[in-house]
Amino acid sequence: MKERLLAELERLRALGLRRVRVTRSAQAFPAIELDGREFVNFAANDYLGLAAEPRVAEALAEGARRWGAGSGAAHLLSGHTRAHAEFEEALADFLGCEAALLFSTGYMANLGAVGALVDRSGSVVEDKLNHASLIDAAILSRARLLRYAHADVRAAGDRLEQAEGTRLLVTDGVFSMDGDLAPLPELAALAERHDAVFMVDDAHGFGVLGESGRGSLEHCGLEPGSVPVHVVTLGKALGVFGAAVAGDRVLIDTLVQRARPWIYTTALPPALASAMKVALDLLREEGWRRERVNAHVARFRAACLDAGLELMNSETPIQPVIVGGSERALAVSARLRERGFYVPAIRPPTVPQGSARLRITLSAAHTTEQVDALVSALAEGLESDV
Ligand SMILES: *Cc1c(COP(=O)(O)O)cnc(C)c1O
Repeated sequence: MKERLLAELERLRALGLRRVRVTRSAQAFPAIELDGREFVNFAANDYLGLAAEPRVAEALAEGARRWGAGSGAAHLLSGHTRAHAEFEEALADFLGCEAALLFSTGYMANLGAVGALVDRSGSVVEDKLNHASLIDAAILSRARLLRYAHADVRAAGDRLEQAEGTRLLVTDGVFSMDGDLAPLPELAALAERHDAVFMVDDAHGFGVLGESGRGSLEHCGLEPGSVPVHVVTLGKALGVFGAAVAGDRVLIDTLVQRARPWIYTTALPPALASAMKVALDLLREEGWRRERVNAHVARFRAACLDAGLELMNSETPIQPVIVGGSERALAVSARLRERGFYVPAIRPPTVPQGSARLRITLSAAHTTEQVDALVSALAEGLESDV
């Protein structure tokens, strides 16, 4: 076996596709220390700068003193605490939903929600660029998986026509590798016409988009009720860890009965719920965080246009710069590192062949000087590489 695995690893390396971890040592975002050198980090999803916020870290420490380090059991045994319940209530209230259910990760929330709502007699209709966890969720549910061309409402309608049994229409709110938005109002109307359940995974919209940070739905003017299954992740803009599914009480009660990645797993440490409660308060009260990251987005895009750089159709803090081949993406990423910026190359199979890219993510924790300096370095890095 070892020889076979080594050969496969060597094949990936030769193609410029082998993935390796980088070990971060500097504590506070946006600094990142790798191999003893410090860089400005443009590779985190900490859009509001809450991950290293002292008030959130303090709530985590206080939560651990009060509840201990772990929950000790699954939610249905004895792992569900007052801290979990209070955070779920606060989150549901913020999103305008009746209830919310905490999951350990977004990956598990998606597996849990899809698996609880369809079985082998149903169908899941998904955007081709949906997050890997949504694709895996459909496969694991054993329902029929039908994918449609990215953000193409007509194609989604065709797939719904072909679908049988219980139909679930599932999309990312903000696409994680491209940064663009799904046509949510059109998809919501389509789902209603086809009597399909509409599910939105708003991992990258929550906290960032919409006037009050409720995410992609608010940004598009959609009422919470028009998206019966609303997934948010809590390790990105909220800066902590975990995920939640929000909806009406019947949905949440169904998940409690049937979502296996929720039932058969240890509850999140309650201290995380305490920390997230404080992070959610900051997300609500400190609107300057959202304004700042959105101002960075506008500034970054204007400066790139000035410098003649080609951007994608994204108004979110995810700002990919397409480079093409994997080797070239690695080379430009290395050049940016020489200039003090950490921007990883995203390569297939995470993105389609020939569209390797630098995935830049902006944060309220960045300064305008850092954003400007990144654009200059990008322009030089791409130019000197022909
Ligand atoms: C990050 C992400 C997830 C997974 O969330 P985790 O909490 O990191 O497991 C799910 N969906 C989308 C769209 C994501 O970007």
